[in-house]
Amino acid sequence: MIKDTCPACGSNEMRTGEFKGYGSLFKKRAIIKSSEVEADFCLQCGLILALKVKNPEKFA
Ligand SMILES: [Zn+2]
Repeated sequence: MIKDTCPACGSNEMRTGEFKGYGSLFKKRAIIKSSEVEADFCLQCGLILALKVKNPEKFA
């Protein structure tokens, strides 16, 4: 459950999407380490409110 309200349009219809493949975040100089990235976005206007790396421990 995401309770955020969009600062741009005031909508509280939020969805979480995922970046995969080319959208993945790669650790610098260690391309074998990658993680999917989640994005919370407004269903109304498309504003992205948060980006989150799903497996941050891979980059430690
Ligand atoms: Zn919005």
